Amino acid sequence: MSHDHDHLHDHDHDHDDHSELGEMDLRVRALETVLTEKGYIDPAALDVLIDTYQTRIGPRNGARVVARAWADPAFADWLLRDASAAIAALGYTGRQGETMVALANTPTLHHLVVCTLCSCYPWPVLGLPPTWYKSAPYRSRAVRDPRGVLAEFGVVLPAGTQVRVCDSTAEVRYLVIPQRPAGSEGLDEDALAALVTRDSMIGTGLARVAGSRS
Ligand code: FE
Repeated sequence: MSHDHDHLHDHDHDHDDHSELGEMDLRVRALETVLTEKGYIDPAALDVLIDTYQTRIGPRNGARVVARAWADPAFADWLLRDASAAIAALGYTGRQGETMVALANTPTLHHLVVCTLCSCYPWPVLGLPPTWYKSAPYRSRAVRDPRGVLAEFGVVLPAGTQVRVCDSTAEVRYLVIPQRPAGSEGLDEDALAALVTRDSMIGTGLARVAGSRS
């Protein structure tokens, strides 16, 4: 499978060049054109919606949630008991995030999130899903061979760490709380949030080591 993780965020939106669009993109675009021509949707409103989730929200809201959980044990406890309420308390609410469940990674348990049916994803905390999350290979292999998938993302877990694959549904969306990295003691929430990558909140990555740039 391909791993251009940041394709969604990096590519230029050149609407006249269809050569790099996949079949699904072309189908979505054709559908959008038909719906616009029939007057069912306003493309400007659609652009605002997409921009909101792709660039303004992105995965940074989720990073703030994780940073708060790392810094505040009472919040972490609330997040694990009632993620929807705890996340809403930070102001992150909206479509595709109505029912949230937080999954805490530990030295012995690692969570990997997938949507085997389609591409369910917690928009209010992570923005729009990356291309690979929506791909058929990820959706099928995450279940069949989670350690193989993790290895492709550069994540090698200790043999004693159990991998639990969590399948998103239309009802429940997951947010992985990655393990707080060593060396992050004493960092404030802003600095902690900077260690939280999008992939670490899906389970295909780990939090950055404090002081590193990657
Ligand atoms: Fe889905």
